Amino acid sequence: MAKMLINGERVDAASGATTDIRNPATGQHVDSVPKADAADTRKAIEAAAEAFKNWSKLAPHKRGQMLMQASACARAKLDDVAQLLTQEQGKPIRDSRIEAERFADNIEIYAGLVNGGAMSGKHVPLPAQKAMGLVVRRPIGVVGAIIPWNFPLTLMANKIAPAMAVGNTVVVKPASTTPLSTLRLAELMLEGGLPAGVLNVVTGPGGVVGEELIRHPWVRKIGFTGETGTGKQVARSAADELKHVTLELGGSDAAIVCDDADLDVAARNVAIGRFFNAGQACLAIKRVYVFDSVADDFIARIVARAKRLKLGSGMDDSAQMGPLHTEKQRAEIEAQLADAVQRGGRVVAGGHRPSGEEFSRGYYFEPTVVVDVPDDARVWTEETFGPLLPIRRVASLDEAIDLANSSEYGLGSSIFTRDMAKAQRAIDELEAGYTWVNAVQVAHDELPFGGTKHSGYGKEHGTEVLDYYTEQKSVVVAT
Ligand code: NAD
Repeated sequence: MAKMLINGERVDAASGATTDIRNPATGQHVDSVPKADAADTRKAIEAAAEAFKNWSKLAPHKRGQMLMQASACARAKLDDVAQLLTQEQGKPIRDSRIEAERFADNIEIYAGLVNGGAMSGKHVPLPAQKAMGLVVRRPIGVVGAIIPWNFPLTLMANKIAPAMAVGNTVVVKPASTTPLSTLRLAELMLEGGLPAGVLNVVTGPGGVVGEELIRHPWVRKIGFTGETGTGKQVARSAADELKHVTLELGGSDAAIVCDDADLDVAARNVAIGRFFNAGQACLAIKRVYVFDSVADDFIARIVARAKRLKLGSGMDDSAQMGPLHTEKQRAEIEAQLADAVQRGGRVVAGGHRPSGEEFSRGYYFEPTVVVDVPDDARVWTEETFGPLLPIRRVASLDEAIDLANSSEYGLGSSIFTRDMAKAQRAIDELEAGYTWVNAVQVAHDELPFGGTKHSGYGKEHGTEVLDYYTEQKSVVVAT
């Protein structure tokens, strides 16, 4: 059975309670993990607070060195980690390998940035007095990192890599269904020399472990990724302790396909954007607005791509799309599709659970495209977290931008056009934290990432994330 990691020790929950982890492709038991309670969580917080005393005082380059060594140890076993990720999450093994690599990349990027002066502040002349002004950066303290199940490793790295590099210590709470790859990576980092207590992992229910992290006064910062509804609850609970919070929440990203677009580029990037990770990505393209004059051609290209995608168990190297993560997730997509069809929508690709023995025990659903769906249908107003793509015809860029902005979400957005004036309008007017122009909708480690409106606040990635894991202090030195 897998164990939690608290203060450098592999431990069970004090109560002995456990949670079973099952493979979404087969329903088979993969392993069990401890089911922690609030008292277990407090032990991890106390360990992180104790470790902070030394970790935060290390010379930044020394922390960078230790993180590089820990990452090297993890890198040597990334294939094991990827296997665990596919078994617990369901995604194709090649995607799990990329995700595990990105974890190590992220640790190394921020370890390197620390060496390059991530902790540097600035000198500000104070002409009014004989004095020198300085702005210095300090770590915040103990960080709680609360992670969802769709990209457990990259979303953990987005928080813990910058947090640890600048001197904070961390307690990670993975999603209840995807703790195994997280625990394995944390173990490898400790084997690689990370001091006890700097990185702790507590497994258990969000309402218990997550809530304790958010309410405990010693945790000074919460990095949260998850649903908008949960994020609002996190913000309310964190308010009592006036805690720093970064909220990376849900999305309903729109892609606009203009009449002058390269339709092949648009269809390829929209298909990847919608069906990657079986559509279970915050940054997935969840709505398409296509100019009427090219709509038939574009829809035909997307339908062909959807039909070509090879479904299969994540452990099958040739599979391009695995099952959905849970039965609940599949039922939700089926309900959203049924709502669209009941209102008059037409399914032009997919729409069913695939038949065949190999699919009978997993939560599979075909890549699905639906057209002629009225604007009040759930697929336009809610987040669709699965392989379901609604496409709507528009008469103009004005109409497309208005519809794109009609969502309460504001995470990502895309436009496909050869006309830079149209692209400029999209960049200026789309209400989102990211706009891709003729590009595939993936987040780059180098660029700040985070939403607006109900998609949350705060940034991950880039150098901008450092502002969210440090506090700035002003200093005046009379001369
Ligand atoms: P979720 O909100 O159900 O759970 C996220 C995490 O919060 C889990 O670890 C869960 O155990 C924990 N949690 C649940 N209740 C809690 C509480 N009361 N207090 C503290 N923690 C609690 O989300 P999910 O279903 O795991 O993930 C899918 C959602 O995440 C989608 O909405 C998706 O768009 C969003 N997401 C956003 C981003 C982003 O960067 N913006 C990235 C990936 C996923």
